[in-house]
Amino acid sequence: MNIHVHELAKTLGLSSKELIEKLHRMKVEVKSHMSVVPPEAVQLLKKKEVKEAPKVPVKPTVPPVQKVSPPPPVAKAPVPTVVKVPEVKEPERPKVLQPVQVQFPITVKDLSIKVGVKPSELIKSLMQRKIFVTINQALDETVAKELGKEFGFQLEKLPTMEEALILEHETKDAKNLKPRAPVVTLMGHVDHGKTSLLDAIRKSEVAAGEAGGITQHIGAYEVDLGKGHVTFLDTPGHEAFTAMRARGANVTDVVVLVVAADDGVMPQTEEAIDHARAAGVTIVVAINKCDLPSANLDRVKKQLTERGLVPEEWGGKTIMVPVSAKTQEGIPNLLEMLLLEAELLELKADPTRFAKGTVIESELSKGKGPVATVLIQNGSLKIGDFVVCGPYYGKVRAMVDHKGHRIETAPPSQPVEISGLSGVPKAGEHFYVVQDERRAREITTVRQEEKRREERVGPARHITLEDLHTRIQEGKVKEVKFVLKADVQGSLEALKGELSKIDSKDVKLTIIHSGMGDINESDIMLAAASDAVVIGFHVGELPRAEAIAKEEGVEVKRYTIIYEIVSDIKLAMEGLLEPTTKETFLGRAEVKQVFKISKVGNIAGCLAVKGKLVRAGTPVVRIIRNKETVFEGKLAALKRFKDDVKEIAEGQECGISIENFKDYQVGDFIELYQLEKVARKLEV
Ligand code: GDP
Repeated sequence: MNIHVHELAKTLGLSSKELIEKLHRMKVEVKSHMSVVPPEAVQLLKKKEVKEAPKVPVKPTVPPVQKVSPPPPVAKAPVPTVVKVPEVKEPERPKVLQPVQVQFPITVKDLSIKVGVKPSELIKSLMQRKIFVTINQALDETVAKELGKEFGFQLEKLPTMEEALILEHETKDAKNLKPRAPVVTLMGHVDHGKTSLLDAIRKSEVAAGEAGGITQHIGAYEVDLGKGHVTFLDTPGHEAFTAMRARGANVTDVVVLVVAADDGVMPQTEEAIDHARAAGVTIVVAINKCDLPSANLDRVKKQLTERGLVPEEWGGKTIMVPVSAKTQEGIPNLLEMLLLEAELLELKADPTRFAKGTVIESELSKGKGPVATVLIQNGSLKIGDFVVCGPYYGKVRAMVDHKGHRIETAPPSQPVEISGLSGVPKAGEHFYVVQDERRAREITTVRQEEKRREERVGPARHITLEDLHTRIQEGKVKEVKFVLKADVQGSLEALKGELSKIDSKDVKLTIIHSGMGDINESDIMLAAASDAVVIGFHVGELPRAEAIAKEEGVEVKRYTIIYEIVSDIKLAMEGLLEPTTKETFLGRAEVKQVFKISKVGNIAGCLAVKGKLVRAGTPVVRIIRNKETVFEGKLAALKRFKDDVKEIAEGQECGISIENFKDYQVGDFIELYQLEKVARKLEV
């Protein structure tokens, strides 16, 4: 049997490189880890191995001979002493893997170049693991690492340019950290006064500062309180907040929950609380419309207490400030409290570094080209800086603050509108300043490629019940989050009760939001931002929500029987909902003749003897010889005479070629199977 360098190296506990050097010293010509080692050399090496191997471990385990008691003296012919040496097992040698640095995902072709193993060898080995890929297909980290190991290599992850950039931006120098302004989003039920409050706060700043100052809408603004600043995002509401979060942008430090004093806690107030909590953001309550005679502060506080927000004056931790957007009463106090909260949160940033931040808004301006309002989260942004932002880059040409002033530098927590980017980035996109244009261009090229790949592959999927078990096993999931929607309060409570009874040592079940009514857009976005599963009980799903769920890859499950929900979740945790694969026989062909065609390779001339040979759906192809499967792979071509065809019916002649296989023999059977993933059904 032929043995390759890498295989022999493995059995000898050497790296391929070491073995090659050894072989060269023995004057055996081998080129790479894939070269075949001549049998004589194998013999020689193995002999050497036996001679060299057992020395070390034998010593301590062999009882010293002299300590064995001599046999009792016997008159005549003493029996020779037999010292039994305990059998010494050769210790397992640790496999020495040769380290190679690569970037993931890596195509078969690139991996082949990196490790010096033929692509066909890699593909063959992948096939044995039932992974069917072509040379240009990319392998993820886990698969690539396993494959590397098999050939004697330890694949190590090289940070991507992007990761290196982020890493650079994330290193902190404690001595440069300075307090920064809190970034605040207003949330609450419709008509409780979010917009009015934002306006009132902005006006209070204009009134305090330059008289008659005209503010410009740039998506966010900063209020100067003399002893500190507070930054407000101009798009209130939990929908916008969570949509940003689903894009990976967590810019808000404090949520101001606006509750109308005359109306109290309403469904969207509850949603807002859950959205803020799911994001782990501090909540400060503004009880608005206090000017109204029907205002009832105590009632609002009581309702909030029932939802876990207990006012400080009642022994809790939540700051609650009575305000009126109409009369401006209480607004200075609210701002004061926000500064206080920022102090408690110890919000800090380093203004001396290159800036990084997030896009709040963007547009294509007629005069200025692409403009984006960005929030600086660390460092300071300066005119002339090179930035990468989403798939675009550019040099900051101009910066304007919310008062319309042109500025040269923007410190942490300041929102500014910048121009100079090569395109219009999306809201929620991060931006980073890089040293020079070349680096900016390199990073964006990679990002654009990734974007194209994403468009081809589709968005990353969020958690589903079906893959829950696998994720738990991989240790990727310690907590499963749910958004629950039900028709009435009673069933919602019953459902919560049942779910709380499911206990597992591996995972924690958390309900991040529950509410009544149809599954809406905000439920889906919350699930997307928090990697949660949406469960509906006796409720529908709004069409827009359905579309977004599809787009965001959020799993929505709807039920009409509580037992089924509980049972599905239990099964999912045990891995019993994982889809099984079903194999369907499509057809069989018998090889009648083998054609050798230059450049193309071998083609099996066949007769379809049973069923239908269908090309669609990438069927699995097996070669059966003497009743045994000798190869499994994918169809390369299915031909009728000279033409490629979609299918061949029973009784027809055809030409078949199979990827990475050429050794067809007359009398072989070629069988086609369709593999299908079938979701398991619960037996009720
Ligand atoms: P939003 O939907 O939360 O943004 O609420 P708006 O800011 O649009 O306000 C809804 C309505 O409440 C408007 O008619 C406002 O004039 C009114 N409103 C807002 N704040 C106050 C307030 O403090 N007092 C009174 N009396 N009315 C207010």
